[in-house]
Amino acid sequence: MKANKILVVGSSNTDMVIKTLHFPSPGETILGGRFLMNAGGKGANQAVAAVRLGGLVTFVGKIGNDIFGKQAVQQLEAEGININFVSVDLVNPSGVALITVDSKGENSIVVASGSNGTLSPDDFDKANDELDESEFVLMQLEIPIPTVEYIARIAVQKQKKVILNPAPAAALADELLQNLYLITPNETEAEILTGVKVTDETSAMKAATILHEKGVEIVIITMGAAGAFLLINGKSEIIKAPKVDAVDTTAAGDTFNGALVVALSEGRTIQESIAFANKAAAISVTRIGAQSSVPFRKEIIN
Ligand code: ATP
Repeated sequence: MKANKILVVGSSNTDMVIKTLHFPSPGETILGGRFLMNAGGKGANQAVAAVRLGGLVTFVGKIGNDIFGKQAVQQLEAEGININFVSVDLVNPSGVALITVDSKGENSIVVASGSNGTLSPDDFDKANDELDESEFVLMQLEIPIPTVEYIARIAVQKQKKVILNPAPAAALADELLQNLYLITPNETEAEILTGVKVTDETSAMKAATILHEKGVEIVIITMGAAGAFLLINGKSEIIKAPKVDAVDTTAAGDTFNGALVVALSEGRTIQESIAFANKAAAISVTRIGAQSSVPFRKEIIN
């Protein structure tokens, strides 16, 4: 199927995970167990999902001048992502997440955004030609919100479709919402954006209507195992996710967003695209990890 180009703009992190029997108390040093280093960051995760699922993907992000950033970008390139517009911050280190997982599987996470926090409009402008050639721009909120607002404005001026996965949740200016073709909060994010607690189809409709009235054309609220709620042209429906045995939901949202934009870039309808995204995300929850759980196109039937 012929696909249009996709621009993913966002964060890349290196997740450093140590397994321990218990969390250290303040002031305590403990010997942990296995150490794992994984590529992460919502932007990079969604770019990886999009390319594995068949998209033509360019990633715009910012790394530090260090081994973590270089390695993260090498991995994105190895996935087949265009990394020509990843900038380097000579002052701040690459984004890292320090994760401790205890014997009960609980985690405690500290993220240092580092260079992700300095991705600026000027950095983005280097990818202007790439924007001209893309139909969709996919962003999240792990980079500065003024940069997200700037990119949305420029993209709309060029008649591109902007998709925002508003994670982690933050209050958003009306001007940004007006520039969005599509927004994809989960239930918690939808509540933070609208003040409506989303628990079922009726409350999802209330929250989605508020976002639509603020100017977002299409609203999708992801609802975990239940699938995704869609509001388009005043009509709503829940598109169910396949039933699976979930073992780890990390990056389910990232897989959903990456898959969604790929299906849209191939000209599928919004309903077909959500069904495709549900299938991909449902596979990801049957596997452990973030990028390691993202499926490839050949694994999705249809
Ligand atoms: P996460 O933060 O865990 O990555 P999220 O909170 O952003 O995820 P969810 O709404 O939990 O987003 O899940 C996103 C999508 O993943 C759902 O719309 C659905 O397609 C799929 N999904 C999540 N959990 C399950 C599950 N238990 N069974 C099947 N599909 C699931």
